[in-house]
Amino acid sequence: MNKPIINEIETKNILTKSNLPVCEYSVNPYVGCTHACKYCYASFMKRFTGHTEQWGTFLDVKYWKEIKNPAKYKGKELFIGSVTDPYNPQEEIYKRTRTLLEELKGSGVKLSISTKSDLILRDLDLIKTFPNTRVSWSINTLDENFRADMDNAVSIERRLAAMKAFYLAGVRTTCFISPIFPGITDIKAIIRQVKSQCNLIWLENLNLRGGYKSVIMNYIQEKYPQLFPLYHEIYDCKDRSYWIALDKELKAYAAEAGLAYVTNDDSMTRNFHSPPVIVNYFYHEQIKKSARKGAARKGESHARTARS
Ligand code: SF4
Repeated sequence: MNKPIINEIETKNILTKSNLPVCEYSVNPYVGCTHACKYCYASFMKRFTGHTEQWGTFLDVKYWKEIKNPAKYKGKELFIGSVTDPYNPQEEIYKRTRTLLEELKGSGVKLSISTKSDLILRDLDLIKTFPNTRVSWSINTLDENFRADMDNAVSIERRLAAMKAFYLAGVRTTCFISPIFPGITDIKAIIRQVKSQCNLIWLENLNLRGGYKSVIMNYIQEKYPQLFPLYHEIYDCKDRSYWIALDKELKAYAAEAGLAYVTNDDSMTRNFHSPPVIVNYFYHEQIKKSARKGAARKGESHARTARS
């Protein structure tokens, strides 16, 4: 991968009131994401931040005034990483996510962090000091070749190891099986792999909209031509029968495996060592519409320095 274009920018408020149903505030210490997932839903952020570069090739590093009175966020739910990965490789240098956590330490805010990295292990001791914390890793395959075709993040093996370390340290963990690629994502195999080291398994189908639809369709045609008719049915003809059948199959599998299969997540209130609950979020479009509205409202501030 070429060296990303890095900008350092100032932003007034790092904590943004969120429309997402899963949290009250969201924080994105960066604009853009150098993990560069081919299917990234957050790539719509380009429209709101004036970036014309290809998604994944730029990163704005945010600086903010130290959060005043962090205690006012006590008991609030804060989601870190709705439109970026807070532990992208540049976090190792800029430490903006770490700075945020240090500013909020002791405030009593409830954290939810989403990542595809194991750099988060660096902050495990700090994260453990927050109450009701949850950390999620996106894992939509156990096939490292497919993973490498889709993103520049760390290997699945490293994500699984990081998840295990957090779980063993007593932090609630989520395996975010998303996006589910029809005919490619082996959901049951992933569940078997993670069920002893997570509290929640979240399922979300692949949506194809905007610029990345052609990227993914071309990829399928080239690498998985046998699946192309299925993708055509789902994404060109809008046939949802694949997802309906998959939902049914997974419900039966969960029952056999003794796992709860629900639409409302109650994993935070369950006993830590209970088996994970599976939440099916197939076609839950509302959450993404809300995220877009929130991002549009948020606005980004001016560039301070630029280097590449
Ligand atoms: S890690 Fe998340 S935010 Fe980053 S490119 Fe991938 S999907 Fe987008």
